[in-house]
Amino acid sequence: MAKTAKIPVGILGATGMVGQRFIQLLERHPWFEVAWVAASERSFGKSYEEAAKWKMKTPIPRRIASMQLSAAEPKGAPKVIFAALDADIAREMEPAFADAGCAVISNSSAFRMHPQVPLVIPEINADHLKLIELQSWRRESGGFMVTNSNCSVMGLAIALAPLQKAFGIESVFAVTMQAISGAGYPGVASMDILGNVVPYIKNEEEKMQEEAGKLLGKLKGREIVPAEFAISAHCNRVAVEDGHTESISIKLKKRATSEKIIAAWREYRGMVYDLKLPFAPADPIFYDERPDRPQPRLDIERGHGMTVSCGRLRPCSLLDWKFTMLSHNTIRGAAGAALLNAELLKARGFLG
Ligand code: NAP
Repeated sequence: MAKTAKIPVGILGATGMVGQRFIQLLERHPWFEVAWVAASERSFGKSYEEAAKWKMKTPIPRRIASMQLSAAEPKGAPKVIFAALDADIAREMEPAFADAGCAVISNSSAFRMHPQVPLVIPEINADHLKLIELQSWRRESGGFMVTNSNCSVMGLAIALAPLQKAFGIESVFAVTMQAISGAGYPGVASMDILGNVVPYIKNEEEKMQEEAGKLLGKLKGREIVPAEFAISAHCNRVAVEDGHTESISIKLKKRATSEKIIAAWREYRGMVYDLKLPFAPADPIFYDERPDRPQPRLDIERGHGMTVSCGRLRPCSLLDWKFTMLSHNTIRGAAGAALLNAELLKARGFLG
């Protein structure tokens, strides 16, 4: 039987931390193949190997190493674009690609809260993709935009989703310990982070608070009605390479026991389990019984970086319950999330 051709995809911001992760994760993807890479003018015309300061722990795929960086413009780009640009650049550039008929699968915050742009975690809110049909790009050129969330709210939203369904959520208090790879490359200067904790990440607390409501909100007619719970986040940068760890306290609407909460996490499969998407983890959430887990160095690769690890569930004397959550910021929180969104888009017929 003839092999079906893979869908050619492009990566905007291909040389950065998230761009590199895309290159790594797409190397043997069964449906998609990297056909085009672009970054800033600094990289234009260079080979990928020359332009990217490669930080992944696997070698640069040989085919990509010699690929030339294209200009970051829609002319000559494939129709499916993974975008890994800073928000200020994305704000200008992503609409140009959607205008030109591209499916733009974005990592940046530029359009996450736009009322017609879905902010998607397939397990939680795959139905939000219906917003695509309301986008003017879709009507005019066939192009559209889909986003994934901020990396620190991604794991939090996944851990909350089954609890919201089973018990309802009244309030959430989260303290993050965020990896340096979350700041891109070169990110935080070594003099600032070595042996240190930086208790400030610009706009991060605001993003966590507003995106949580949209992610866990409900599609009603032509809009997303945000989930209504109070949320307060404290965001810290710590000297960890990959993996955001969070200490979370929650108040639930209905009474729960620890057994019921752990069962809700363990049984959670989410909305797209039946689709058997290639990059979907078998277990979206893993509950670890060990008293000193999860830890970023030991647990971050679970479910090829797509499983969210929870542990240390115990009563909280301020709210009802508290626990620790860990998720991979450049896989589950960025490139892997966008890849899963692309798989969902293909499965739902949005990629032709
Ligand atoms: P990064 O390491 O700083 O990479 C930025 C990329 O954008 C590089 O490829 C850079 O190319 C390119 N670029 C810069 N200026 C450009 C321009 N004018 N035109 C075209 N390309 C340009 O950043 P990152 O960490 O990968 O983050 C990318 C996006 O993903 C950001 O919006 C970030 O907030 C979001 N995000 C990051 C994470 C994470 O854990 N890192 C998680 C979730 C979301 P050059 O190499 O040529 O400069």
